[in-house]
Amino acid sequence: MVSIPRITLNDGTSIPQFGLGVYHVPAEDTAALVRTALDMGYRHVDTAQGYGNEAGVGQGLRDAGLPREDVWITTKLDDPAHGYDAAVAALDESLRRLETDYVDLLLIHRPGPDGDVDTWRAFETLRSDGRVRSVGVSNFDRGQIDRLVDGTGLVPSVNQIRLNPRTPHRAMQRYHRRRGIATEAWGPLREGRLVDHRTARKVAELHGRTPAQVVLRWHLQHGFIVFPKSANPRRLRENIDIADFELSRRDMAAIGRMRRWR
Ligand code: NAD
Repeated sequence: MVSIPRITLNDGTSIPQFGLGVYHVPAEDTAALVRTALDMGYRHVDTAQGYGNEAGVGQGLRDAGLPREDVWITTKLDDPAHGYDAAVAALDESLRRLETDYVDLLLIHRPGPDGDVDTWRAFETLRSDGRVRSVGVSNFDRGQIDRLVDGTGLVPSVNQIRLNPRTPHRAMQRYHRRRGIATEAWGPLREGRLVDHRTARKVAELHGRTPAQVVLRWHLQHGFIVFPKSANPRRLRENIDIADFELSRRDMAAIGRMRRWR
């Protein structure tokens, strides 16, 4: 069985650093894809209310026959559900669709128009009553996170942002470290485009790996949490097979320099 590294979040929970993202996976295909991934050793699925496939994620988990506590499930609050009562009601709808008692991580999908402090208070309640294990945000900037923390005292456990070697968001990384927030990188392969980059191909050749594997490995060695999306079983296997090799400092720097090139 593949060994996936884990990261301890600022609330003490431990998240698998690698998983499967299901953005754009059609609802009717989701259960089979999640089942296939779990059979391969994936233990973390990133979905959202807005993806319309939470029910398939829950079904895939049950079909795989794994204990609930063995699989990390993240979902995200849809935009119309901002505010205290709407957020609590929307999470209960997610639990109903997933057919589970709790989600491991609930994120505010993107900042709302009203500063999100009321929504964040709802997240605090949901975490203390166990319907959610960890809470976080997505696509937030520093000022937006500061406002949540100033308003409630609760620091998000993660911020899920678009991050890849072309756009590493260094200032945001430093801010996350200072606050003790883990960085989740969505679009880790720049929606697949980085696999054609000549640096990724060169480093891959050095290691006898694929370009996708070395880019994903770059994320892991930086401490980012990633969940590349693929509906193709060969790529699913390729993407998870990244635990047993190490990029040198020189490889890491070369991949990091991809941002300067067109
Ligand atoms: P990604 O960088 O993971 O790229 C996915 C695409 O890369 C796939 O469609 C496939 O075409 C290609 N690909 C995957 N594996 C490959 C391989 N081994 N070789 C060659 N090509 C490969 O981008 P993504 O799907 O946008 O992001 C991953 C996940 O992040 C999503 O599924 C979703 O869960 C999450 N996400 C979150 C937000 C947000 O606003 N929070 C936004 C977008 C995505």
